[in-house]
Amino acid sequence: PEYSKDDIRQMAKDENVKFLRLMFTDLFGTIKNVEVPISQLGKLLDNKLMFDGSSIDGFVRIEESDMYLYPDLSTWMIFPWSTERGKIARVICEVYTTEGKPFTGDPRNNLIRVLDDMRKAGFTDFNIGPEPEFFLFKMDENGKPTTELNDKGSYFDMAPMDLGENCRREIVLTLEEMGFDVEAAHHEVAPGQHEIDFKYADALTAADNIQTFKLVVKTIARKYGLYATFMPKPLAGINGSGMHLNMSLFHDQGNAFYDKDGEMELSEDAYHFLGGLLKHARSFTAICNPIVNSYKRLVPGYEAPVYVAWSGSNRSPLIRVPNSRGLSTRLEVRSVDPAANPYLAIAAVLEAGLDGLRNKLAPREAIDRNIYRMDAEERQENHITNLPDTLHNALKDLAADDVMRNAMGDHLYQSFIEAKNLEYNSYRTQVSEWERDQYLELY
Ligand code: GLN
Ligand code: MG
Ligand code: MG
Ligand code: MG
Repeated sequence: PEYSKDDIRQMAKDENVKFLRLMFTDLFGTIKNVEVPISQLGKLLDNKLMFDGSSIDGFVRIEESDMYLYPDLSTWMIFPWSTERGKIARVICEVYTTEGKPFTGDPRNNLIRVLDDMRKAGFTDFNIGPEPEFFLFKMDENGKPTTELNDKGSYFDMAPMDLGENCRREIVLTLEEMGFDVEAAHHEVAPGQHEIDFKYADALTAADNIQTFKLVVKTIARKYGLYATFMPKPLAGINGSGMHLNMSLFHDQGNAFYDKDGEMELSEDAYHFLGGLLKHARSFTAICNPIVNSYKRLVPGYEAPVYVAWSGSNRSPLIRVPNSRGLSTRLEVRSVDPAANPYLAIAAVLEAGLDGLRNKLAPREAIDRNIYRMDAEERQENHITNLPDTLHNALKDLAADDVMRNAMGDHLYQSFIEAKNLEYNSYRTQVSEWERDQYLELY
């Protein structure tokens, strides 16, 4: 909602708000917050609230560490779980430099920049409907998460199979109190796995919502003695957690992807956007699947995409065109996982699509068969490539794509690639249980 400074002052007073949580997101998608007492509200509203950004991942070096937090007043919200002494409100902030410029290492600022480019290209809105999945694990007596699942349920199961149901229901109610429009909540395919879908929103709000959503899920799960994780593949041998992104692009005349006379009732713009997504799919993978573990999910057999292809009818490919048309005509990118920084992931898919529009890229033909039943030769005949199979390979593709550099801006692009190469190297130099099991006695 559009709030004025006076609205905020009034709400803070009426609701007895005692603390302000000033939230922003670091390079890795982690929500950071600076908490200040309500006495600092005036300073905040005047964009005068300073903090030290030097220890934030992907931000800056010590010598230039002072930064400002400019609140986005439309994100003001009072937490429903505030304490008796008074309430806690949060506001999502943009990080600014001491020169009063948007800090280019702030992923949210970056998405704002890419959305400006989109407007310059003649579009008004990019809408995102995310489908985040997560697992609920039991916690031990010290409050540490275990790998013990809390139920044996499966897709759309009902209680008593689904013990997470009460917890999930409270998550949904809390989200609704916080202004979310929850469309569906269900048990997912794997035991202990859930999905909650909330209504699409413009790209920036959707990314903010994803961050708030994760915070709510984790907070409520803890109340039930459960640990909620958005790790993409916590257990081998069962489905991992994805975060499918449904996307649509709007111009003044409505949904730019819809054309009732087009092939499959899709517009030229839709095909170009799709062409861009397919062209850059390998290079946006490092952004949308940013951790070592992400690649344990992108394997055959678990409903996660492995190949670069699209379809209007089949659920196995990377990109699907869900069956609705008119205003809700959309493309669904199915590779994204919930470890992704939503600001970066959305900027990446948007920039990929815009590149398709600018260069009138055409997608290859739709693949309506099950790709997992094709052999390598058939896939080659159909020009179906693979998504990168490791973070290492994904980073190589990212480092070679200037469109993705533009999607992140130099600062984020370089810090991301550097940090992620370190992460991969740290993994690569470990010796795992699997290796000892396989080799210790054999050699
Ligand atoms: N969990 C699957 C994934 O990894 C998706 C399953 C589904 O939503 N049908 O993407
Ligand atoms: Mg779904
Ligand atoms: Mg799902
Ligand atoms: Mg889906």
